[in-house]
Amino acid sequence: MRRAPDTRRLGVMGGTFDPIHHGHLVAASEVADLFDLDEVVFVPTGQPWQKEGRPVSPAEDRYLMTVIATASNPRFSVSRVDIDRGGRTYTADTLRDLRRQHPDAELYFITGADAMSSILSWQNWEELFELAKFVGVTRPGYDLDVAHLAQHLEKLPGDAVTLVEIPALAISSTDCRRRASAGRPVWYLVPDGVVQYISKRNLYRPPESTRPDGT
Ligand code: ATP
Ligand code: MG
Repeated sequence: MRRAPDTRRLGVMGGTFDPIHHGHLVAASEVADLFDLDEVVFVPTGQPWQKEGRPVSPAEDRYLMTVIATASNPRFSVSRVDIDRGGRTYTADTLRDLRRQHPDAELYFITGADAMSSILSWQNWEELFELAKFVGVTRPGYDLDVAHLAQHLEKLPGDAVTLVEIPALAISSTDCRRRASAGRPVWYLVPDGVVQYISKRNLYRPPESTRPDGT
């Protein structure tokens, strides 16, 4: 792909990351490779009171798990913009803040098929496309609503949204939380350091299930 030699390309991977798992990491890594990104910034969402009727883990825990999961990759970093802004996260706010911090970079917002549909239906998508290019990645169990997207895409420049197929990992944070709360393994679904952090902080376990040995 053609670009001015000094234009940095920054991927933006937003998510609740409760917890971050290998599906997120593979999505970021694949898009970084396909779009020749210099860096991918992971942006944990601000603290919503609830998400779909369930409590969300404290922002600092989600932030630290994201740092742990990305620390070994020199092209991955984590931003606190959404956490520090607080309240419900809107993608436009995330992108505006990152734009301010990286005025010369091209932003690529990376999203799974499920999140792409909801971003486009809920938010002011015309403004979003002025702030970043969007890359939708395949996710097992979710179909992109291509017909709905196409309606919008007609009015947009050709490279505003790109859909890419990535290796399918049927992993979700919801499943990881359920497993952890039932005492079942999350090994290999999330990075090792995240398994250890979940256990250390006793995340996703009802308080009465705390074991004396700390597991
Ligand atoms: P939850 O089950 O709590 O909603 P999640 O697994 O969907 O968690 P999020 O933090 O909601 O994770 O997702 C952040 C972003 O990563 C979204 O754009 C989502 O579509 C994408 N994503 C999550 N899991 C995958 C996966 N396995 N493959 C591809 N994309 C994914
Ligand atoms: Mg989700």
